[in-house]
Amino acid sequence: MHASAFFRQLATLILGHERKQQLRISRSLTAAFVFLACIGLQIYGYWHGLIEAQYVWRLSIVILVNVVFWYALLRSGLNLRFRDPALTLPQVLSALTIITYAYSVTGRIHGSIMMLLPLVQVFGIFNMSQRDSRLAGFYSLGLMGCAMVYKTLTDPENYPYQVELAHFILIAAILPTISSLAGQLNSMRMRLQSQKNELAQALTRIQILATRDELTGLFNRRHMMEVLTQHQKRLIRSGHHRFCLALLDIDHFKRINDTHGHGVGDEVLREFAATLQRALRDTDVLARWGGEEFLLLINDTSPELANIGLERARDMLASAPLLAHMPDLRVTFSAGLTGYDDVEELSICIERADQALYRAKAEGRNRTVIDDQLPSLVGKRPRAPVAAAH
Ligand code: GH3
Ligand code: MG
Ligand code: MG
Repeated sequence: MHASAFFRQLATLILGHERKQQLRISRSLTAAFVFLACIGLQIYGYWHGLIEAQYVWRLSIVILVNVVFWYALLRSGLNLRFRDPALTLPQVLSALTIITYAYSVTGRIHGSIMMLLPLVQVFGIFNMSQRDSRLAGFYSLGLMGCAMVYKTLTDPENYPYQVELAHFILIAAILPTISSLAGQLNSMRMRLQSQKNELAQALTRIQILATRDELTGLFNRRHMMEVLTQHQKRLIRSGHHRFCLALLDIDHFKRINDTHGHGVGDEVLREFAATLQRALRDTDVLARWGGEEFLLLINDTSPELANIGLERARDMLASAPLLAHMPDLRVTFSAGLTGYDDVEELSICIERADQALYRAKAEGRNRTVIDDQLPSLVGKRPRAPVAAAH
């Protein structure tokens, strides 16, 4: 097996598959190195006769149990039941407690243990709120204060009060400073997060604006061209998924505007689009092509079958008023329907639909004319360049 593949598998085994969980577990394991340093320091102390063996054992066991406990909790996914799945505050508090314990059993070398306190707090600043960070700071200060007083009273030789006082002053200055930095970092992170959310919302808005018609919510002309191009490519590549195009135009729409005003005209456009969508299949794609014209793409069917959907829409428009507050207003449409059934330019297919629409208007409106000039029936039309189709 390739070495990198082996390490990748090993990492998955230790950290799991889920990205966020991986991050939480690896952060917890990184923190475990602080504890390993703690164990190392004790062994060093024992080696030089500064710490008794029983303390080394006890502390090492406490540390190992702690590391295994948090690892098991995170790796099993039980952490996901908590409000903060990273369990930062509990992990930080338990680490601070163990370090305080280590401080009180490492005899003459206990001063060096103190350096681990701010390190633990630094781990917290990634994930903790200012409140939690302050809580951890005060907890640590309080606990260390108690440990110092206790050790000064019970073991003044190794913990002389002059030294303990100096230590206390030092951590009293350092820990709150870290808490305050954590707070600043946290508010910066919140600001970044809200900016990120705003950007994502703006992007969604822009995408809607770029692809949708504002009045009807249908795809706009530009996006419809992209959709058509995708269908054209799919058809050319696969040889099936035939589709039809219908160009629809509301009859005498200008009269509606002139009689009832532009506002009612807009309402009619909106409701007309909604009615059409109700009448059509989910796989059909309707776009506002311009003014009171709509382009409809009907998938996987022949023009004759595609017409069934259009007739359903026509019946729906005829059977019920479009606007509830204007029951007498009836709206009809004319349509030109054609099939895209060869490797042709899209514009040629649309032009054929337009010509059929023109005929529908000329023949008296409120009807669909199916184009009888399909390329497959009347010989080859100009082909779309193959390069553009891929
Ligand atoms: P025909 O049956 O021949 O299609 O007649 P028509 O009156 O529907 O066609 P014409 O092209 O003469 O008029 C279309 C009108 O649609 C003119 C234009 O002012 C109106 N129109 C275009 N876009 C909008 C819109 O967004 N809102 C409103 N209210 N009217 C619009
Ligand atoms: Mg028109
Ligand atoms: Mg019209």
